[in-house]
Amino acid sequence: MKQIFSLLILCMMMYLANGQTPGETEDWSGAPEVVTPGNGTQPPSDATVLYGGAGDIEKWVHVEGGPPAWEAGDVLTVVPGSGDIQTSQVFGDVQLHVEWRTPEVIEGKGQGRGNSGVFLMGLYEVQVLDSYENETYSNGQAGAIYKQHIPLVNACRPPGVWQSFDIFFTAPGFREDGSLLSPAFITVVHNGVLIQNHVELLGPTLNIGKPRYEKHAERLPLMLQEHSNPVSYRNIWIREL
Ligand code: MG
Repeated sequence: MKQIFSLLILCMMMYLANGQTPGETEDWSGAPEVVTPGNGTQPPSDATVLYGGAGDIEKWVHVEGGPPAWEAGDVLTVVPGSGDIQTSQVFGDVQLHVEWRTPEVIEGKGQGRGNSGVFLMGLYEVQVLDSYENETYSNGQAGAIYKQHIPLVNACRPPGVWQSFDIFFTAPGFREDGSLLSPAFITVVHNGVLIQNHVELLGPTLNIGKPRYEKHAERLPLMLQEHSNPVSYRNIWIREL
């Protein structure tokens, strides 16, 4: 009796689903790789640590070549006048975690206060700035895609306090003839708050003029900007997508 009842229920469900069964839309192929998630400062198991302590300075070079002159201890700190630094490794589509801290003692104002930057592919800047009660142009404040996209909100912590960016970046694609096939996209979470929601980049970051794409390699180094202010970084890790 119970079996007949179950059969009736199944027939009724199939009738309601136009003869289709749940199994027809189940995909059992390509189970995702197992990753152990991070825990606080611990990165996920498949991440590449780019800066976790002094020894990791070997993963970085001065943008013009040679060793970087930034202060490299438990944290990595900009030495004013020493130049930008970039990774030896190159990346395309990534998930990137970066923690940064602007100087506790406030010096300068506007763009001159705690300025640095995270440049995806060395070309596309997510602005690092002390934007805690510090007025500047909106598309140049912390978390801005510099001169392209204003952050949705200002989620800045006070100077001297550690902050985080979680960045999801899709690299641009180019055709053989150099024309743009697909633009770059970026999502940024600042201190756990979504501030850039899959915005389209108009081209590499420029301080003057309108950006436009020019064909470049599929993978390029990640760059950190030296902008005369002693901004610090720690717990930098990246996952290639
Ligand atoms: Mg900057």
